Amino acid sequence: MRENVEVVIIGAGPAGLTLANLLQRAGIGCVVLERQSRSYVEQRQRAGVLEHDGARVFEEWGLGESVLSGTSSDGRLEIRLDGRPRLFDVAALTDGRAGRVVPQQVLVQRLIATFLEGGATCASTPPR
Ligand SMILES: Cc1cc2nc3c(=O)[nH]c(=O)nc-3n(C[C@H](O)[C@H](O)[C@H](O)COP(=O)(O)OP(=O)(O)OC[C@H]3O[C@@H](n4cnc5c(N)ncnc54)[C@H](O)[C@@H]3O)c2cc1C
Repeated sequence: MRENVEVVIIGAGPAGLTLANLLQRAGIGCVVLERQSRSYVEQRQRAGVLEHDGARVFEEWGLGESVLSGTSSDGRLEIRLDGRPRLFDVAALTDGRAGRVVPQQVLVQRLIATFLEGGATCASTPPR
């Protein structure tokens, strides 16, 4: 580990990796410590929608292309009630603030790739 890093981030989930990318863009040295393997966090299935403000942060920091490319807006949401589909116009209900459909593992993969492309290195230690 570099000895002159300014920020140590515990956890390579969406929060830690987003912070790492923002700090990198701000020129602040940081290291992300994760107890799981890279492949584990890159395959871990959880959420599937990134809400509007999260997407806005990536775009404002110039990460929209690398992190959000190819994702679609959650413009319409289908909810089934008693077996009958009901369509909600999310964009209209949220005043145009619809989120993005992006599986969390894809978000994590892209955040790691972007962090590495920005000059970070990835190292692992064998389990004790
Ligand atoms: C089973 C499951 C299903 C979910 N489904 C949805 C969903 O459908 N929709 C939705 O919006 N949200 C969902 N969520 C919530 C969403 O996944 C979380 O809000 C999101 O993962 C939070 O991101 P995070 O970076 O804060 O934390 P995490 O993703 O939990 O990342 C924290 C990281 O820190 C690491 N860590 C923890 N302690 C240490 C330590 N001491 N040292 C080193 N590393 C450490 C962990 O291994 C982990 O990789 C789900 C969560 C779970 C658990």
